[in-house]
Amino acid sequence: MKEIRVGNGFDVHKLSVGKKIKLCGVEIKNNKKLIGHSDADVGLHSLTDAILGALGKGDIGIWFPPSQKKWKNVDSAIFLKKSLQLLKKNNFLISNIDLTFICEKPKISEFRSSMIKKISKICNLDVRKINIKATTSEKLGYTGREEGIAVFTTVLIYKK
Ligand code: ZN
Repeated sequence: MKEIRVGNGFDVHKLSVGKKIKLCGVEIKNNKKLIGHSDADVGLHSLTDAILGALGKGDIGIWFPPSQKKWKNVDSAIFLKKSLQLLKKNNFLISNIDLTFICEKPKISEFRSSMIKKISKICNLDVRKINIKATTSEKLGYTGREEGIAVFTTVLIYKK
């Protein structure tokens, strides 16, 4: 059997007063914005970490230290593309992606298909191999109080 590997990624970003957020490359009108490293796209960060995890290549912070000013406000697709380059270099392909948002707002279901299309385009992966789902934390904890958004991603990769 050809080598298969699994990786998971988890990321959280803090919310503060704002007008829009970017989730999985999709800009969404929202009464709060995400703050943090780069454009704070918590979805793409989580996916990038899942791919790096599957490859055994550390995490996003190793490749793109938040302390470096050059990553400020950059499009997080850059980070994802780096992990895809490493994937290619190591002769792996993505089997499927399963990404879960943990938040009260925005309603992810409204943006699910545009997010899937965006990821599909960046990863050059069939939309049927990408799943995006969401759950709330029943108003409990930091996600429940809308202080932040968390994303958990699992990815399966296989050797070409
Ligand atoms: Zn992040």
